[in-house]
Amino acid sequence: MILLEVQPIAAIATTPTAAKTLQPLCQNGVILWIPESVVGIAGAKIYTGSLKSHVTELWQTHQGLIFGLATGAVVRLIAPLLHHKSCDPAIVVVDETGKFAVSLCSGHQGGADKLTQAIAQLLNATPVLTGAASTLGLPAVDILGIPFGWQRGAGNWTEVSAAIARGESVQVIQEAGSTLWQSTASFQHSSLTLEPTPDTTPKVYITPHSSPLTPHPFIRWHPRVLWLGIGCERGTSRELIENAITQVCQEHRLAEQAIAGIATIDIKADEVGLIELCRDRNLPLRTFPADTLRSVTVPNPSKIVDAEVGTPSVAEAAALCAANAQNLLVAKQIFRAAEFQGAVTVAIAQAEQEYTGRTGCLLLIGIGPGQLDQMTPAAQAAVTSADVVIGYSLYIDLIASLLQPNQIIEALPITQERQRAQRAISLAQWGLTVAVVSSGDIGIYGMAGLVLEELQAQGWDGKTPSVEVFPGITAMQAAAARLGAPLMHDFCAISLSDLLTPWEVIEKRLHAAAQADFVTALYNPRSQTRIQQLTSAIKIFLQYRNPQTPVAVIRSAYRQDEQITLTTLKKLQDVPVDMLTTILIGNQSTRTQGNWMITPRGYNTGLP
Ligand code: SAH
Repeated sequence: MILLEVQPIAAIATTPTAAKTLQPLCQNGVILWIPESVVGIAGAKIYTGSLKSHVTELWQTHQGLIFGLATGAVVRLIAPLLHHKSCDPAIVVVDETGKFAVSLCSGHQGGADKLTQAIAQLLNATPVLTGAASTLGLPAVDILGIPFGWQRGAGNWTEVSAAIARGESVQVIQEAGSTLWQSTASFQHSSLTLEPTPDTTPKVYITPHSSPLTPHPFIRWHPRVLWLGIGCERGTSRELIENAITQVCQEHRLAEQAIAGIATIDIKADEVGLIELCRDRNLPLRTFPADTLRSVTVPNPSKIVDAEVGTPSVAEAAALCAANAQNLLVAKQIFRAAEFQGAVTVAIAQAEQEYTGRTGCLLLIGIGPGQLDQMTPAAQAAVTSADVVIGYSLYIDLIASLLQPNQIIEALPITQERQRAQRAISLAQWGLTVAVVSSGDIGIYGMAGLVLEELQAQGWDGKTPSVEVFPGITAMQAAAARLGAPLMHDFCAISLSDLLTPWEVIEKRLHAAAQADFVTALYNPRSQTRIQQLTSAIKIFLQYRNPQTPVAVIRSAYRQDEQITLTTLKKLQDVPVDMLTTILIGNQSTRTQGNWMITPRGYNTGLP
């Protein structure tokens, strides 16, 4: 199932044709609604009453609505329901026959542009996006920080976005948070600059601070880098804690949106005021044992606290632990108020890396043998939906047309598989949706195994980050399709690369496959330095199979420079073979006909 990031999603169709067009989306978690008059649509739900009242209901409970109606009708339906782009659901319109998917409303913040692209892939429709950011590949400053969990702060958002859309210079002042967004195509092709500009130039601040307020247009994104260390008496009121936080932030000109979470000592894990505050503000509560807190050097240790809870510091030490920092941004302050119960201590430390508040996801994607039309629509949609795409540069080039201007692309050299896997895992653990792409099928001599093995080595619980694997057409199948039906009977694949497998093991498998009369696909048959293996493999096969056995040598299947050579086992040695080649060795019944290679299934042998 491909991931549609916006959830839950409802689709609505009022005619049988439109319902059939939208029906495939049901497999991707979309609920399709139809009126009673439309029959025979498996998996759809029936709504009774008027379409208008049904849409009003869906509006309250869904993040995305897909309409199989004319845009005019949709505009009239939703007009009375529209409130603001920050809270309205993403609206996508698909025409009756599924030729176009139109991102109608809440393109950026609501995710309609991304949803439209995913739906277009699934329905094989053309996506229609009309926002300036998507047509020109400009950075949508209002979604810039979403992958990193940044919070939107004060500012003239519409004005600054408009200045960028007009191509006017806008300065970015980044004081905190990830700089990965700076590598995106949309930033590089935009009028955003990191260079100093005059005061009057609009500014984008990426900062934990709530200042400066200037008379000139600006916007503020707040990466969640502030860890609040909190110590409190048992039963301290939630209001007191909340007031203390607001006061400390105001005094130090820190934005509350930049708060990553709250840190304290483990015996406070059940402190009601803290728990309620974290729940309502959606903040993580990190707790540390007294022993851990004791070992942290703090500016204001207390003997009284030490005697009470076994560490001379709770607030300061917990803030430093959670932020993984050496120094505090704000030393501890104690708050009491006559009208509230208890007392609270607050200290703040700033983390190097922001807390995203998102659950990361690894999409392991097979891109097929070459051309994009050999890649599954689900795999294409998965690439489009990712925050980051990681892969060997040749594969990244092959899927270039799927890449989005706001995506972070990390093309790495072919040799660095382990680094690629580790990089993908660490970004996903941090909260990003990371696509790892491999040629063919990612689970066949591809990156899927390496990523999962690395995850396992790191103590992965099998759930977080989540993993989804998207199958692709492997080289062996691509080659077979070009040749007819060589894999019609039992077959196997053997890689001749002995970089990760001892040659003795490969040799043993070659003997077994040859002896058991499997049609055999040889992957990685030869590299510039590894030439002997193929000669040995041919010798082994000649011990069991007729020298006239048909063999096909396929280089770059489904790529521009595709080459196919039909030969025999005896003559295979004379055919040029390299790392872009797959070899298919027939079984004892395999024959050729013209340029075709056929392995009989047995229909014509007279056996029942
Ligand atoms: N995951 C890939 C295999 C990677 S191993 C897949 O499923 O196809 C690399 C080997 O795959 C190459 O040495 C070659 O033997 C084979 N290969 C990959 N793409 C190919 C293509 N387009 N044509 C022929 N062989 C290919």
